[in-house]
Amino acid sequence: MKVIRTIDAIKKVIQDYKAQNKQIGFVATMGFLHDGHLQLMRAAKQENDIVVASIFVNPLQFGPNEDFEKYPRNEQKDTQLAEEVGIDVLFMPTAEEMYPQPMIIQMGITRRVDVLCGRSRPGHFDGVLTVVTKLFHLIQPTKAYFGLKDAQQVAVIDALIQDLNFPIALVGLPTVREADGLAKSSRNVYLSETERKEAVSLSKGLQAGKQLLLSGERDPQRIIDEVTKTIELNISGRIDYVELLSYPSLEQVTSVDQPIILATAVFFEHARLIDNLLLDENGSLITRYN
Ligand code: AMP
Repeated sequence: MKVIRTIDAIKKVIQDYKAQNKQIGFVATMGFLHDGHLQLMRAAKQENDIVVASIFVNPLQFGPNEDFEKYPRNEQKDTQLAEEVGIDVLFMPTAEEMYPQPMIIQMGITRRVDVLCGRSRPGHFDGVLTVVTKLFHLIQPTKAYFGLKDAQQVAVIDALIQDLNFPIALVGLPTVREADGLAKSSRNVYLSETERKEAVSLSKGLQAGKQLLLSGERDPQRIIDEVTKTIELNISGRIDYVELLSYPSLEQVTSVDQPIILATAVFFEHARLIDNLLLDENGSLITRYN
């Protein structure tokens, strides 16, 4: 595995692969790798000649009071895991390498952003779009793999690829969970023992909503109320949102008659956790996007 830290070096390596007509799969991460990330890497490995993964904690996508400084990092373990999965190139630039000067161009998203995490984290998705655009230009992937754990991010990157004509196929893969249903996340390490036990109620709540849909309920508000009730009863933290929206357009629906996202975010003392289910109009889980 090639470990690359500079933009000059990644450009050269990619140029070589392109000259050999290699199909490049790309997985962007912020590191502290777990099975959610590894699933994306394994799929990329199966479906492409070469896999490039990046580890970059992108300062632009963190708000002033968020966890940029203390975001968990473990470069040594990540390098070992990436190598074991068979990553060909691990790109780990510093913030100075990616942003040698304040950006002159600013990316801004106008739709799919005033809901869910976009509403709670102003500027977050502009930062995501900026870094993903830079990475897409540097790595020139044939296919880019993202997790549906961050389904709004997938919807936003889908719009980026369409609007700006990136010749890239987007692949969204399902949320990988702990045995009790908690969505795997680098941020789960922030939870206290009690909170860790409570955190299972995010997925439990969403499952309760899914069951209601499966039993024929089509009223979004009733489904939202059911999810909210289940979560509220079981956590010491505070619910940020429970929403049901069309997917990927992320618009309000009056009745569930199309693919939807049922999503929640909860603030615990040191962590804000998110979870969602992507469901078709019958309430069945959608496990691959595109
Ligand atoms: P992050 O390092 O949190 O930025 O995540 C990097 C990529 O891994 C993103 O596409 C995430 O959606 C994806 N990812 C993170 N956690 C999970 C999970 N539990 N299941 C599936 N994908 C995940």
